[in-house]
Amino acid sequence: MANDSLISTDIDYTQHGKQMGVLRVPQSFNTAGWANYFIPIAVIQNGSGPTVLLSGGNHGDEYEGQVALMNLVRELQPEQVQGRLIVLPMLNRPACVAGTRLSPIDGRNMNRAFPGQRNDTITGMIAHYVSSVLLPLADIVVDIHSGGRTLQFLPSVNMHELANKTQMDEMVRAASSWGAPYVFIYADVAGEGLLPSYAESLGKITLGTELGSAPQFGVEMLQIAENGVKNMLRMYDVLTDSPYTPPAVASQLVAATNAADYVMAPVSGIFEPFLEMGDSVDAGQELGQIHSTEMPFAPPSPVRAQTSGLLFGRCGFPLTQQGACVATIVRPYTLA
Ligand code: CA
Repeated sequence: MANDSLISTDIDYTQHGKQMGVLRVPQSFNTAGWANYFIPIAVIQNGSGPTVLLSGGNHGDEYEGQVALMNLVRELQPEQVQGRLIVLPMLNRPACVAGTRLSPIDGRNMNRAFPGQRNDTITGMIAHYVSSVLLPLADIVVDIHSGGRTLQFLPSVNMHELANKTQMDEMVRAASSWGAPYVFIYADVAGEGLLPSYAESLGKITLGTELGSAPQFGVEMLQIAENGVKNMLRMYDVLTDSPYTPPAVASQLVAATNAADYVMAPVSGIFEPFLEMGDSVDAGQELGQIHSTEMPFAPPSPVRAQTSGLLFGRCGFPLTQQGACVATIVRPYTLA
């Protein structure tokens, strides 16, 4: 077919059992003309049940998904599964290897490359493979993110606000099975082409996460990712190792659905926060101030909230640039 992916693999998506292999993406280097770049992939399939696509490393500097999914693939045995898991722990592996958000090969953001194109740069080719080969197989799609180096977050499982109420209600139910402190409804304020947006548009039960930040990477955030994925799989009877039990503490449902909830730095410089994560905020309140690195003794530039709520996300690296999101404000959300 004219739109067939240029990516090849030895993985057989119809085969039962556990397969661990790679996607081979055509990619030449100066030292190797006939070359493929390998993206790790695993499939665990048994019996019958839904297909769940799990990805980490969409952004290379976000480690929770990468580690949680490597552990999951090593740990799970086919006998524990009813259905099919397709697992990509390092979706944007060039960025994972470099420890960067963007791919160092083509400079692109994987989470703005969907649905991608057949003959694209490496990031777009991977996105196209996911869009054209994997998403059609999937009933449930989970893309594990955190703030990486750029943002700090109160830990959440998240999604967009969707017009399809049945899909949205089911996504909130799936998100709530994780036991994360928050279920977060977000809006896109920095472009389109997100993996979750594309999967949502296909009607898939789609979840993302924002689990802390690179400096917060540790036991607590990893447990949310690992227990969350397993609990969700148990809820859907895909993981049969033990019965599903709802989380002891229900997640708080919150939303930042206005563009004004995402506060962008008015100038470049060092962002000094005035509030801690989870603090309540009034519209107009100063969230912090930005010190100029060129005029250190000039008055800092105030950064004000435009909406009221609680501080949910904050810039993760204090040296910020004009136009970068330095704060996210959320409010409680009720399903329609
Ligand atoms: Ca991310």
